[in-house]
Amino acid sequence: MKRALVLNAINPRIGGVLIRGEKGTAKSTAVRALGHLLPQIAVVPGCRYGCDPSLPDELCVECLERMASGAACRTLAAACRS
Ligand SMILES: [Zn+2]
Repeated sequence: MKRALVLNAINPRIGGVLIRGEKGTAKSTAVRALGHLLPQIAVVPGCRYGCDPSLPDELCVECLERMASGAACRTLAAACRS
C-alpha cells in the first residue's frame, strides 16, 4: 500500500490506488497522512477531477464545457489529492 500511494503521488496519471482491507487497519489514516505531506496545487474550482488550469490541453470535459460557455477559469490553491 505504501509503495502504491507514493507512486500515485509521484505520477497521478497512474489513475489512483484502490485500497481494501479489514476495518480498522489504518487505510484512511495512511491516505490522509500522505495528503498532508504533499504540496498545494492549483486546481479549477468545482472540478471533481482537480484539473490544472495551467494545462488547458488536459482539462476534463466538464472544464472544457465551462470554458466554452464563457465561464472564467479561476484558479484555486487546494490540497493535493491522491
Ligand atoms: Zn476538470
